[in-house]
Amino acid sequence: MTGGPAKAYESVAMRPLEPFLIPEKPRGGEADPSTCRSCRPSEFTIWQDEHWRIDGGWETGGLPFIGAIQPREHWLLEDAPVDVLAGLGPLMQRISEAVKTIPSVARCHFSRWNDGAAHLHLWAFARPEGMMQGRGAVLSYWDGMLTEMPEQMMHEHIEIVAEALAAGGGQAFPNR
Ligand SMILES: [Zn+2]
Repeated sequence: MTGGPAKAYESVAMRPLEPFLIPEKPRGGEADPSTCRSCRPSEFTIWQDEHWRIDGGWETGGLPFIGAIQPREHWLLEDAPVDVLAGLGPLMQRISEAVKTIPSVARCHFSRWNDGAAHLHLWAFARPEGMMQGRGAVLSYWDGMLTEMPEQMMHEHIEIVAEALAAGGGQAFPNR
């Protein structure tokens, strides 16, 4: 981590490895999908279409944009229908292009972690142009380290992404 291409870490201190927990604690919405928070309509939904929605703007951070991408219905990666999954590839392309329309954003990175909510979700992160220390997975950690954007700027960036997406179909801010 200290020697990777991003050169973002001076040093890293891992905690000692704890005993494994088996069976694991259920993820959000896993034991009872009726309690799944990702299934509920949200004021933070910035765009949606028939199958997918994108949320953002929960709090200001240091990165120009972070979005959560998830199917509108309660699907896991393991059981999502092919017609839902088939829309994800083209949508990722559209999100990447939309995020890069934010001024001074060079790239859009995606991650898919699988431990918080059971409901299938991915993350999109905007990397500022020229930020060589933000290359790769370390970008997500920079969000809490960089100076926070002004709230108005965060909303401007969300508007840019939502409108760029809606220009290709779907609806910006469906819950406003
Ligand atoms: Zn759900």
